[in-house]
Amino acid sequence: MPAPSQIRILPDVVANQIAAGEVVERPASALKELIENSLDAGASRILAEVADGGRKLISVTDDGSGMGRDDALLSIERHATSKIHEAADLAHIATLGFRGEALAAIASVSQFTLTTRTAEALGGVEVLVFGGKIQEVREVGCPVGTQVQVRNLFFNIPARRKFLRSAQTEFIHIKRVFTLAALSRPATAFQLRVDAADMFQLPAANDMLERLNDFYGAEFAAQLRPLDFDAGNVRITGFAARPSFTRADREEQIVFVNHRAATAPVINYAIASVYQNLVPGGRYAPVFIHVHLPAELVDVNVHPTKREVRFHRPMEVREAVADAIRSAISGISSEAARTTATPRPPGHVMPPRPEQPFFDTFRAFPAPRPAPAPAAAPRPPVPTPAPGAMPAAAMPAGSPWAWFRILGRVGGIYVVLETNEGLVLLDPRAAHERIIYEHVLQLGKARPQESQGLLPPVTVELSARDAQALRRHLDALRAMGFSVAEFGADAFLVDAVPAIMSEISPALLLTDLASALVQSGAEALREGWMHERIAEISGQRAVTTFEELAETELYRLVEDLARTEMPYTSPRGRPTVILLNMSELHRKFGRS
Ligand code: ADP
Ligand code: MG
Repeated sequence: MPAPSQIRILPDVVANQIAAGEVVERPASALKELIENSLDAGASRILAEVADGGRKLISVTDDGSGMGRDDALLSIERHATSKIHEAADLAHIATLGFRGEALAAIASVSQFTLTTRTAEALGGVEVLVFGGKIQEVREVGCPVGTQVQVRNLFFNIPARRKFLRSAQTEFIHIKRVFTLAALSRPATAFQLRVDAADMFQLPAANDMLERLNDFYGAEFAAQLRPLDFDAGNVRITGFAARPSFTRADREEQIVFVNHRAATAPVINYAIASVYQNLVPGGRYAPVFIHVHLPAELVDVNVHPTKREVRFHRPMEVREAVADAIRSAISGISSEAARTTATPRPPGHVMPPRPEQPFFDTFRAFPAPRPAPAPAAAPRPPVPTPAPGAMPAAAMPAGSPWAWFRILGRVGGIYVVLETNEGLVLLDPRAAHERIIYEHVLQLGKARPQESQGLLPPVTVELSARDAQALRRHLDALRAMGFSVAEFGADAFLVDAVPAIMSEISPALLLTDLASALVQSGAEALREGWMHERIAEISGQRAVTTFEELAETELYRLVEDLARTEMPYTSPRGRPTVILLNMSELHRKFGRS
């Protein structure tokens, strides 16, 4: 006799509760799903309400398409969706939802009310669900759109309810979800009500900057520069902060992929790589990045929460994001182009440029100064000097200002400039570090792997662990310009180092490189390590006494800084300039 079958198909309610474990991690995840549904339904206004950190209530009301009676009932069934019809649709998803499991999952673990009405219907319908079981369906009067109320999440799963954090902690997650949604769709009005008090009221905005302005305030928004970068398949838009404006965490590094808030390691990597050597360690520049690409080049179906995405060609995306940020933060600010009032032109003529760069700090490199990078894009119009004024030396495209003049010094240290952008305070030492840093990098690029021989050669002894790491990468070291040979147990003989590092003691270089290799493996041999060392060299070489500088020398310094690729910070992340642009000045003085 065959053994009685042990396998059972789970009842729907149980299956939904299991799915809820994946989709609904906490109140904030329910809120996220509800807001996504409202956006997919074409809402122009969305009201989110929470009570007790979402533990008591999560409610979302929209003025979207609404649902008829049959759809309202279907919507809380498992795998019921209006957004895709067949497997092939998964390859090009244009809506935020598509799995058809959110409402079913949420309704199975809460006391759930769905109230909805389409524009054509005379009245609405209300569906009451209690722990996944429909209690009541009734006709109600209600405006066009949908309201979903979720009460006492996990009331029927004590084990999950117990794991909810304090109302405060849950609220942090809720606020994050709301923030991401509000930033993803500037054209939609968003409102957040917390324990019956309004916390955010964001009117429909014309564009992302307006939304950022409403959300974070004008001071914050003034620090952002627009991104717009087209790399064929991939287009990047959004905003990136000037490197001098940083935060202690990554909260304001926000990425959207085809309007969906997303995380993708390649994008984090791209952001970090651009700001490396521009911001101090442990600080993060706010960025708001929209990646637009054909839906078939991205996979959003990686995880039930749809937060992590995968790109089919990650390197393309990574490069596009990095290039977009780089050109935005090194380019001339767009405020200048928009300013209607023409600032007064400089009364000072730039002294002619001599062949030698300012300060003879590059003695190790008798090579001629490399030409400034060619202009990448046509520059926006800049205010031209008034008739009768002396002409200013033209600055290359991408300079932070088109003209400047030195007004004086503050405290014998900081240089005060008037520029077409507004008022600028400049720290000459930080500026000099930046100039040297880029100069050395340029030379390194012009003559890659050039070595500087050591006479006599130097023996370096390392710890067994460091020696082992170094031994494994000797070939890569040689490719960088080191000439290194094993020399006994854990010792190495160095008879050449990369020319751009010839000023650092070879023993220090090797020890440092070895410990970097131990920590980060071959990754350490990429540009990062080299750049950090060069930043150090720049710091050591930068002139420390600027008090005595003649005006012509200061002019040269400012001009050299303006020609660098990243003029706003020193290679070690200190600001080189503090810029008060005309619109900030007007605002501070209360002019409109
Ligand atoms: P998905 O969003 O993945 O399709 P959901 O369970 O979140 O799955 O929603 C199921 C269906 O219910 C949706 O496909 C949609 O047709 C409908 N729906 C849900 N929320 C709304 C809403 N706010 N307005 C209109 N229709 C909605
Ligand atoms: Mg959904």
